[in-house]
Amino acid sequence: MNFENTLAFAQGLDQADPLRDLRNEFLFPQQNGKPFIYLCGNSLGLQPKVAREVLDRQLNNWQNLAVEGWFEGETPWMYYHKALKELMAPIVGARPAEVCPMNTLTVNLHLLMVSFYKPKAKRFKIMMEAGAFPSDQYAIESQVRFHGYDPKDAIIEVSPRPGEYTLRTEDILEQISLQGDQIALVLFGGINYFTGQWFDMEAITRAGHQAGAVVGFDLAHAAGNVPVQLHDWDVDFACWCSYKYQNSGPGGISGIFVHERHFGDQTLSRFAGWWGYQESQRFKMEKGFVPEAGADGWQVSCTQVMPMALYHAALQIFEKAGFIGPLRKKSKALTAYLFYLINEVNNELCEMQYQVITPSSAEDRGAQVSIIAKANGKYIFEQLVANNVLGDWREPNVIRLSPVPSYNSFEDVFRTAELLLQIGRK
Ligand SMILES: *Cc1c(COP(=O)(O)O)cnc(C)c1O
Repeated sequence: MNFENTLAFAQGLDQADPLRDLRNEFLFPQQNGKPFIYLCGNSLGLQPKVAREVLDRQLNNWQNLAVEGWFEGETPWMYYHKALKELMAPIVGARPAEVCPMNTLTVNLHLLMVSFYKPKAKRFKIMMEAGAFPSDQYAIESQVRFHGYDPKDAIIEVSPRPGEYTLRTEDILEQISLQGDQIALVLFGGINYFTGQWFDMEAITRAGHQAGAVVGFDLAHAAGNVPVQLHDWDVDFACWCSYKYQNSGPGGISGIFVHERHFGDQTLSRFAGWWGYQESQRFKMEKGFVPEAGADGWQVSCTQVMPMALYHAALQIFEKAGFIGPLRKKSKALTAYLFYLINEVNNELCEMQYQVITPSSAEDRGAQVSIIAKANGKYIFEQLVANNVLGDWREPNVIRLSPVPSYNSFEDVFRTAELLLQIGRK
């Protein structure tokens, strides 16, 4: 598309946007009586307007039904997660039986590693991306220690080439094939939180399997953002948080995916709890764990109704939008426009004031654009916030801006670039 660097052009794109009214479903934080241009959905998505109402409904159920709410009322809590599974499945390209809402992300990462990281003799290593989100680093480090290994020996990190910020797929695949017989598990982010790079998950999965390894993904920055196809890509397992691109609220419930190939595998170890027990027999309270079929068998504790009510309401907005397809189309256009405008700003300033480290090909990124300012990055970020543009700052030097297709507009992107120019001039 040929973009233009004018407000009228940006507004024209908004008028032609079939999703333009979706932003009315959300509440925007304000500063000095004006709503923020919110570009931080990569960290915490906005509150859907219905959030209060759905919580209220469950508070009423609790008030009126109390313990009977588990089996009575319009949405008995015992089966509450089932409605979510139907809406989560299309978000990550899975069958409903392969997904389940439960716990929080890092907890699920641990639970899934208990099942899918099975180090043996020579094959004991985990391959991951260098610079992964710290929680993942700590989880993986502690898992290898738990199995009696030293992280120095058991973790292989794939790094960008010198002078580069993002990973080349060929380098990832080469590392997998070079060290294949030592790798028990390939565990990557879907999208890297810092650079916004979307990894070639399908190619990584294929290479991992060819090497005889299990392949899992942390989709914190990918789920609800890019069209992943976990089932068709044959990914073994995945998990994600729902409070970033899926707008389920702070500390919102996480989701897991387990490929149906593994449903019948009795050899998988689990850290079990009563909610993962065969549903129809759960209340017989008998000795000896028998897992429920599918991803539900990984549940540990009873249904977290309040966070699930929020996630369900947020997922219904995705349903209304037609799920990922239409959102992704707009998302690619939003980031492409931001790339174009930043380039315009750099030309105007006659210097590379803003270096974008996110991949320039839309196929290799999601909604996030990460920028390193040539100088005064923190100051520039603070000036954006002071002028009602809320992105975020990641140490040591990155400004992350994420135009989210469900609630950001092309005008938001235009105004942000306009500010980057004004601040850069100072
Ligand atoms: C946001 C994020 C987390 C956060 O984990 P919680 O357990 O939800 O606190 C973990 N990993 C990645 C890759 C993330 O982006």
